[in-house]
Amino acid sequence: METTDSVGRIGTREALLGYERTLDCVHCGLCLQACPTYRSWGMEPDSPRGRIVIMRAIAEGRMQPSDTALRHLDLCLGCRACESVCPAGVRYGEMLEFMRHETNRAPREPFALRALVPHPRRLRATFAMLRFMQRTGLVAMGRSLGLPRRFFGPAVGALEPELPPVAPASLRAPIPRRTAAVGTTRGRVALLEGCLASQMFGAVNRATVRVLARVGFEVIAPEKQGCCGALHLHQGFLEHGRDLARHTIENFERTGADVYVVNSAGCGSAMKEYVHLLADEPAWAPRAAEFSKRVRDVSELLASIELPPMPHRVSRRVAYHDACHLAHGQKIVREPRQLLRRIPGVELVALRDSDQCCGSAGIYNVVEYESAMQVLERKIDCIAEAKPDVVAAGNPGCLLQIVVGAKRRGLRIEVVHPIELVDRAYHGDPPSA
Ligand code: SF4
Ligand code: SF4
Repeated sequence: METTDSVGRIGTREALLGYERTLDCVHCGLCLQACPTYRSWGMEPDSPRGRIVIMRAIAEGRMQPSDTALRHLDLCLGCRACESVCPAGVRYGEMLEFMRHETNRAPREPFALRALVPHPRRLRATFAMLRFMQRTGLVAMGRSLGLPRRFFGPAVGALEPELPPVAPASLRAPIPRRTAAVGTTRGRVALLEGCLASQMFGAVNRATVRVLARVGFEVIAPEKQGCCGALHLHQGFLEHGRDLARHTIENFERTGADVYVVNSAGCGSAMKEYVHLLADEPAWAPRAAEFSKRVRDVSELLASIELPPMPHRVSRRVAYHDACHLAHGQKIVREPRQLLRRIPGVELVALRDSDQCCGSAGIYNVVEYESAMQVLERKIDCIAEAKPDVVAAGNPGCLLQIVVGAKRRGLRIEVVHPIELVDRAYHGDPPSA
């Protein structure tokens, strides 16, 4: 929909806002060394500053949105490391989403984003089928015939053999709608189960519920919740992202919870930004603002309260990897480390470049496989150097990506969400699978 801004320019809201964001950049270049793709290739057009120049030139009509120009934007991870070091407060993530929205060359959303991720039943059926195929040897047979590569492309063909097996149905089923607090209740929280995360990281959701209940929260899992839209927004599919945001707000409002807890950095970051996403919709703006105010990453919530003593030791050397959408998207850096340090037995070891992206970045590792693997290689170098027993990260995409990288490098490490270590400290080691 076309609109007019304060100085009379005409365009879509996204185009105008995206353009305005580009004007904040003072071209100092302080962001260059923080940018993973600049570090990969040392090319200005693949740096934050270079990309902002391209976006501004396109917005001002001085450059055509050609495939060559847009390719530099495609190669951006959207990790927002540039925002964390920018002295001018550039809102790069928003700018990129607006520009991707405006210049989208794909005729429609990728199949997974359109027809799978937003539909919990379809997602559950897909993972049930995958598990059946893994257990009956059909996946291995298909792999030997090169089917994943043929049907889903080279990236899926290359990643598939390294991915962990699909969890049993008991871990993929929805979590209980209500879990009572242990002892005195200190409040009611609602938990986002996530779309892909609910199928691939059901154990993380269950650990989150156990810990929240153990420390005194009543935990509600909103009915009919699905995808929060983070993946769609990241790729610039803003209209679909807005639909999913409205749906998520409605579902969480019904719970009457004081706080909305998220254990996935990408989802939490998107949900905290609904306030901006829906700012121009009078019926939704106040609801989105109230919603975003209540969202907390699980580490953020736990670091802010007095915790009951943890009875079990977790004697491990733990390296913490900062998920981009926690460190750069939400500026949550200290809290997960504080939480890990509170676990008896944990030795937190330094990880060089811990806030550099691992290359997962939404669906980047599938759509930009070669670049994602270069970024991953550097992350695995740092992990190998730190020699931990465990790598902890607060985002499902990072967990999968680091599992793949560690397996390829032959590193014998465990890769977990921090909340799983807290859960072990409260409830002991989980039974081995
Ligand atoms: S640090 Fe900020 S102001 Fe400087 S070039 Fe990068 S984005 Fe622009
Ligand atoms: S979002 Fe990440 S990859 Fe993109 S320009 Fe900024 S630092 Fe570079």
